[in-house]
Amino acid sequence: VSPIHVIGGGLAGSEAAWQIAQSGIPVTLHEMRGVRGTDAHKTDGLAELVCSNSFRSDDATSNAVGVIHAEMRLAGSLIMACADRNQVPAGGALAVDRDGFSDAVTKAISEHPLITIVREEVQGLPPAEWDLAILATGPLTSPALAAAIQAETGEDSLAFFDAIAPIVYRESINMDICWYQSRYDKMGPGGTGKDYINCPMDEAQYNAFIDALVAGDTTGFKEWEGTPYFDGCLPIEVMAERGRETLRHGPMKPMGLTNAHNPTVKPYAVVQLRQDNALGTLYNMVGFQTKLKYGAQAEIFRMIPGLENAEFARLGGLHRNTYINSPMFLDGTLSLKSRPGLRFAGQVTGCEGYVESAAIGLLAGRFAAAERKGVALAPPPATTAFGALLGHITGGHLVSHDEPGKRSFQPMNINFGLFPELEPGSIAKPEGVKRFRGKDKAIMKKQLMAARALRDCAAWLGLDTEENQAPSSATS
Ligand code: FAD
Repeated sequence: VSPIHVIGGGLAGSEAAWQIAQSGIPVTLHEMRGVRGTDAHKTDGLAELVCSNSFRSDDATSNAVGVIHAEMRLAGSLIMACADRNQVPAGGALAVDRDGFSDAVTKAISEHPLITIVREEVQGLPPAEWDLAILATGPLTSPALAAAIQAETGEDSLAFFDAIAPIVYRESINMDICWYQSRYDKMGPGGTGKDYINCPMDEAQYNAFIDALVAGDTTGFKEWEGTPYFDGCLPIEVMAERGRETLRHGPMKPMGLTNAHNPTVKPYAVVQLRQDNALGTLYNMVGFQTKLKYGAQAEIFRMIPGLENAEFARLGGLHRNTYINSPMFLDGTLSLKSRPGLRFAGQVTGCEGYVESAAIGLLAGRFAAAERKGVALAPPPATTAFGALLGHITGGHLVSHDEPGKRSFQPMNINFGLFPELEPGSIAKPEGVKRFRGKDKAIMKKQLMAARALRDCAAWLGLDTEENQAPSSATS
């Protein structure tokens, strides 16, 4: 059997190589560190964690990150097995000794009889003889390879920075204050004239908001990140600094909007939120990409009328990050539509974070191995964390109403907003409970979604649901 080639030995590439080899198929893993470094990695070890040592929440009962941990353990993940063995105390989070973790991954991969590691920079797309390959070169993909990807998929296919606006759970927006309306009631392709949620501000509220933005604590760019401000992507606080009126004439302009709750009073400024996923559970704050620190963002954005209790699926950011416009270019098994057999995995697909990158590596490895064996592997159900994340990457994203034909694809962490809703009536007051408040309902919803995900994932993996035990022998 000829090998499957995996390019990049980070979180995604290591997991992909492991999954393929565990299914009995040989792998050649190409990793450039040792020959050429990146601006963030410090070692030659596989699966090096470049920043935090946390894999975030390990609560599989009511946290989407914990659920994806659990699904990965069910699927025999090497990354999770090595993380579990190198855990350091971190409350409910899974944090690891970064050197111990990377050493364990490197040892397991190096000692696997079906994996060969080649230390080299792959500078172009895989040659024809690598009929099955996975490109998992991460946010710091080397420039030569990035240029080759761009040559294959086109000028606009690859982003080098993510400019992320905060994303809010729809159910946490106060619709007694906000209303649905597109500017000038524009219909657009697939639009209804009511595609945006609008938050009105009077003059005093606007001025207080601008003051808070300008005073807010921001994170700086690392030297090597340069200053990636480009047209249409200025951080909101930078726009506010340019003049008190700038935002009111930019993303917060009130034109073409009538407050449905108070039609006779013209709002002084309006914050718009646009639907962010096909399910309609998430809304992004239009034009609100920001470098404000997370704490400052939550505090300042809750000053916006209607968002006083906003829950954020993700906060905004602006980072160096190479990723492709996946919904446009990848099929449902992460294969490049223009070159079937070449899969993408990890952060370069537009997921975000160590765990999510490894999870997509796991799926890409399984899809590639199944293809080599000539068997069809159904994608994981949308109700699983695997399926929810894969759906975001390969198709679940909306076409932008503003720029017909263009997708507003931005990287995303796993969160419950990506999961399909529960069956109507699932959330009911438990017997014997006196008060069942909104907060209790929200917790129950997460618990039911988590349980559904794990049940459906076990079934997808062909495991006995009675024995949802994490495999623990990945590296032994
Ligand atoms: P990586 O882990 O980066 O692996 C890609 C591998 O490909 C690297 O080993 C690289 O050397 C190799 N490679 C690149 N080009 C080539 C080539 N041409 N040929 C051969 N090999 C190549 N995520 C978090 O969850 N928490 C954080 O705190 C965090 N902080 C971050 C800080 C920075 C500065 C950056 C850049 C990212 C951060 N991330 C963080 C995101 C994190 O990098 C990813 O979540 C994760 O590492 C992505 O996994 P990956 O396998 O896709 O990429």
